Formats: sequence, C-alpha cells, structure tokens
Amino acid sequence: MAHPHARLRLVQHDPVWSAEPLSPPPGGFPLDGVRLLSLDAHGHVLDWLHWQEATCLYARDAVAWTLGEPCLRVHGGLARTTGERSLIELHPIVATRGRARAHALNPTPALTNPALFARDSHLCLYCGDVFPRSQLTRDHVVPLSKGGRDIWENVVAACFPCNSRKRNRTPHQAAMPLLAVPYRPSWIEHLILSNRHILADQMEFLKAHLPKRARRPAA
Ligand SMILES: [Zn+2]
Repeated sequence: MAHPHARLRLVQHDPVWSAEPLSPPPGGFPLDGVRLLSLDAHGHVLDWLHWQEATCLYARDAVAWTLGEPCLRVHGGLARTTGERSLIELHPIVATRGRARAHALNPTPALTNPALFARDSHLCLYCGDVFPRSQLTRDHVVPLSKGGRDIWENVVAACFPCNSRKRNRTPHQAAMPLLAVPYRPSWIEHLILSNRHILADQMEFLKAHLPKRARRPAA
C-alpha cells in the first residue's frame, strides 16, 4: 500500500501533475484510492472521479461549485512566463457546470458479481453465512432455463454448496426460502457499495440522498 503522503505523478506530457493529500485520509488509504464525488450544477449525483479527472475539470474551469474542505492539493507544471508552479486544491464533492440529461440520472448499476455480492453484504441469501468473494456465486432465483432473467431483481449471492443444492429449481421447488428479496440498487447505493475509501463529507452527502427504503425480508 502506498504511503498516504506519497507523491503521485501522472504520466502526461505537459503539465506534469502531482498530488498530495491535505489531511491524511482515515485509515491511511492510498492516495490513488481517493475519489471525488461529481455532481451536476443542480446537485444531482453523477459518479466518482479519479483525482486526475477532477484536476482536468478544475483546469478547464468546468467546476461550478464544491462542497467540503479541500482534500487534495495538486501541483502542475511550471508556468513559462512566471516560473511558478500551478496549484489546484481539490474538494471532496465537485459540481460541474451544466445539467445532466435525465437519462444520466439514477442509471441502473452494471450487474457484476462484485456489485451483486456487495449488495448482499457477502451473505449467501440461502444459508445466511458470510463468505469471501471467491466463495460466492451468482444464483438466478428463477433459473435461466425456466425463463428467469439475468437482472438485479432475479439474482442473489449464494455459496457454492447452496447453489449446487438448489440446482435448476426455484427456491419454492427446492424448499430453500430466500432470506431477502433481491432488488436493483439505486445509483447512490451503488456508489456507496463500490468505493471502499469514501471521505466523511462524501458519505454524509450520499446518505442524505439515499432513497428511503428498508430491505424487505422475503415473505
Ligand atoms: Zn449458502
């Protein structure tokens, strides 16, 4: 793991950017793990940005407003005229100019196994035990061969033994009731689940924008 104060250099011709954290992130996570939360100018949540992408937004004057105290300081190249190094301070939440198109808001998160296992808290939704990612599988509640679809609402995390015991049957047919109803995560839930290095300001903002929903136990 990189030391939190390690300088990073972006492989780019000119200017050469390097970044340093302004305060050590909690847990000393690597600088390259820092992501900035991007919003549109109206405050709609867009996505995580790598600090290098965010630096480009600042440099292009595409930032409308920001939230939170600066979390990263980025040094640019030397200005030819003055000989001074350019300096940009990045904030944890960055709103870019313009309004996102409606279809760009709350998109369906890609259904990948890591995202699925994160949604289900690495629990097997049949036996309820917690497993490492390598021991979980994607189970289709209604099997594909029975017309089930490969969508968030029809997949759960299952351990190998439960998946092989269930075989090509529905939970009802297999007498293996689900512990919870599978659902499509909102985009904001997905952003929370997909980033292990969320800064305090970002988490506060995301939690305030979470849809109000409690996970329903399966009937
Ligand atoms: Zn299991």
